Amino acid sequence: MTFYGSDYDALEAFDPEIAGVLMSELDRLRGGLQLIASENLTSPEVLTAMGSVLSMKYAEGYPGRRYYGGCAEVDKAENLAIERCKALFGADHANVQPHSGASANQAVYGAFLKPGETLLAMSLPHGGHLTHGTKVSFSGKWFNAVHYGVDAETEDIDYDQVEALAKEHRPTVILAGGSAIPRLIDFERFRAIADEVGAIFWVDAAHFIGLVAGKAIPSPVPYADVVSFTTHKVLRGPRSGAIVCTEEHKAAIDKAVFPMMQGGPMMHVIAAKAVNFKECGTPEYAAYAKQVVDNASVLATTLGEHGIRPTTGGTDTHLSLHDLQGVGVSGKDAEARADAAGIVLNKNAIPNDPAPPSVASGIRVGTPCVTTQGMGTEEMKTIAGLIAKAVTEGDADPGHPVSQEVRAAVTDLVMRFPAYPR
Ligand SMILES: *Cc1c(COP(=O)(O)O)cnc(C)c1O
Repeated sequence: MTFYGSDYDALEAFDPEIAGVLMSELDRLRGGLQLIASENLTSPEVLTAMGSVLSMKYAEGYPGRRYYGGCAEVDKAENLAIERCKALFGADHANVQPHSGASANQAVYGAFLKPGETLLAMSLPHGGHLTHGTKVSFSGKWFNAVHYGVDAETEDIDYDQVEALAKEHRPTVILAGGSAIPRLIDFERFRAIADEVGAIFWVDAAHFIGLVAGKAIPSPVPYADVVSFTTHKVLRGPRSGAIVCTEEHKAAIDKAVFPMMQGGPMMHVIAAKAVNFKECGTPEYAAYAKQVVDNASVLATTLGEHGIRPTTGGTDTHLSLHDLQGVGVSGKDAEARADAAGIVLNKNAIPNDPAPPSVASGIRVGTPCVTTQGMGTEEMKTIAGLIAKAVTEGDADPGHPVSQEVRAAVTDLVMRFPAYPR
């Protein structure tokens, strides 16, 4: 059945310019390899809920306690999202209203920190996130952020440094998680350090929560006071955020999301989150999450065999970070050369990067999208070879023979494993 919100022909008739953008974006997704570690290809079911009539309803407050009438239907959607989220992660409490990962984090700050108080988090250049106390973010302007990093030898989190900084600065909150951490995080160790100094232990699981949902890696939920996350990365839901926490912090989190930080919730996106949480409880999703990790591991190792060294020696998750210094190409050039050949990835700083962030000495690659397309470890070996060829022999010009040769191989791959099959 066609439903309001899914009528492409009507949009095209009224606004061909925007309809054209939608169609050419679909072509772009179908035509290349999406290796951005924070992206995924969400389901038509999730997209349907997002583009739906639930978008209109004002529903400030929480189910059964709204500031507007007419909320009976949206209450059902939010209650389903909350219950499914709690069940999926075994959490005491879930707040499904944050608009994004950054909004979820803002609420966690609002719940636990007063302006000027101290946060201990991973530094951005070592794999953290802008919202973890960087100077350009509200989090660095309003709070006293102290940062830990990775060990120079292992390139993984320096837990001894975390402990030493925690004892020295007595932070109100200790935060684990980031955007470029290829390895598992030792939540037990973080919990012990937080307990030693009486800090709240917060995990920003934005990147890897999908692997937790699919039981492919250990969960932070039994260890953390609060876990914030996005729903659109490996998790494969709508573009949004959520927070789970222990019973003890339930009231503080709910008050911080609304009314402290947000106004009316996006009920269409909350419904889409409910659909996504249901998907994540299926055996198919669990198999997907495991395949994402297997694929990332093979992609990282094979790139290493081509001289593009994975930091920490590999990955346990959906992403790997690669040092290009061995092949003498900058992250910026690698990104442009891959793009010219139909491979979308991003330049990324590596720990102790000698280059400025706008150039960077590394790239970050992730397997959520290509795994959604059904690719496996054999295809990862092929992709690693294509990346290596584009990066080391190619050019930012799509007309360059190497760009064209790699693009032809990319086209062959995406024809066999289409995104959004017709
Ligand atoms: C992506 C990400 C965020 C921000 O999510 P947005 O939805 O882009 O606001 C926050 N924290 C981490 C660790 C992330 O990777």
